[in-house]
Amino acid sequence: MCVTCVKYCRGSLLERLANGGSLVVAEGYVFEFERRGYLQAGAFVPEVVIERPDLVKILHEEFVHAGSEVVLAFTYYGHREKLRLIGKEDQLETMNRRALTIAREVARATGTLFAGNICNSTVYRRDDEEIKAKVEDMFREQIEWAVDEGADFIVGETFGELGEAMLALESIKKYGKGVPAVITLASAGRDFTFDEVPFEDACRQLEESGAAVVGLNCGRGPKTILPLIKKVRASCKGPIACLPVPYSTNEDYPTMQSLTDKETGKPAFPYDLPGHTCTRTEIEEFAKSCQEIGVNYVGLCCGNASHYTRIVAEVYGRRPPASRFSPDMSKHFMYGDKSKFNQYHTEDMVKFTKAEK
Ligand SMILES: [Zn+2]
Repeated sequence: MCVTCVKYCRGSLLERLANGGSLVVAEGYVFEFERRGYLQAGAFVPEVVIERPDLVKILHEEFVHAGSEVVLAFTYYGHREKLRLIGKEDQLETMNRRALTIAREVARATGTLFAGNICNSTVYRRDDEEIKAKVEDMFREQIEWAVDEGADFIVGETFGELGEAMLALESIKKYGKGVPAVITLASAGRDFTFDEVPFEDACRQLEESGAAVVGLNCGRGPKTILPLIKKVRASCKGPIACLPVPYSTNEDYPTMQSLTDKETGKPAFPYDLPGHTCTRTEIEEFAKSCQEIGVNYVGLCCGNASHYTRIVAEVYGRRPPASRFSPDMSKHFMYGDKSKFNQYHTEDMVKFTKAEK
């Protein structure tokens, strides 16, 4: 029993990942709340934290129920620049502290880890010192609030440039009072960051600079992220992270932003992405591959939902509470164990679900 969380805490981030340990992590809050009608596609600012904190808490709880072992505070795009964009800069600290408080409550009640969250600033310029100072300041305030609210570690994610990822890491080291950093790069269409560094080299540099976990998230789907994460595994010594989007990307369309509608050819991002969602089997295969490769911090990003998180958790040997309701088609009256059902025409019923030829 842990005195801090007063529950069955299984140790810190570093303890849980030591000796090849793993963590299952649910992300995807922005897309999920957009889908539900509580924030707007485009700006993608987590306004739901202010307007319906009860719903944010419930989604955290639902993800933990499905197997997430990290509760990620919903502060993604809750930074100064994004709030300026929607004219709500005055709510910046309130939004951040409220998101952190909700995540902490759920994490402490469930023995999971509580993570703060920073991300790409959308304004970073590698050749502009003034802007870099501004970005560092944006990171600083979010990091300080996260530490003040008791975050166990901080996730810095979806960086397209190694320079910005490095600035995030350095900011966590400078202002984070020693909390570990998980830094993930957004894996775009090329195998290089926007500042022309192969992703595996970028991850190694982040690891050598002190990130506790490094890896890739967002952007690519399972099929196109796996070849890259294999290179990251070969290049890095410590724990690595892999959290793709659950969309069926392929060699020609390697990212969710490159996917197009099959009939019209129009970009599918973000409005028509549902037409490209992965099957559960694809997610299961993805999780198995991650296990074989040696991915320690595993999950899904934009487009994730609880049924996917449960699959990842189960492949990684967990049995979260939601596993009680994992599919059991033997109980189905048409497809199940015939001896259990008093249905005399099930073969016909199955046959008639298909087109008549
Ligand atoms: Zn994402």
